[in-house]
Amino acid sequence: MQCIVQGCPGEMEERRIVHTFVREGKPIVIENLPALVCPICRYTVLDVRVLDTLFALDPEKDTSVSQAPVFRLSLDPTPAGVQ
Ligand SMILES: [Zn+2]
Repeated sequence: MQCIVQGCPGEMEERRIVHTFVREGKPIVIENLPALVCPICRYTVLDVRVLDTLFALDPEKDTSVSQAPVFRLSLDPTPAGVQ
């Protein structure tokens, strides 16, 4: 499938990706997520069926396979190099 980004000549490839979503304010990480990824611009398309499965997932009831630490960066609002 041709990349849907206008002007991008990429051909989308089926990949399994890791993606982080925020559900009810809490981040959840999904591994082995089937997606179409453009190798040129990295645009990612998820299948509607995959999205349905994701929305049906209940972080409270379904068992997570692993735990990921969550960090919050405290960055100075001044961009680096600006004085
Ligand atoms: Zn593309």
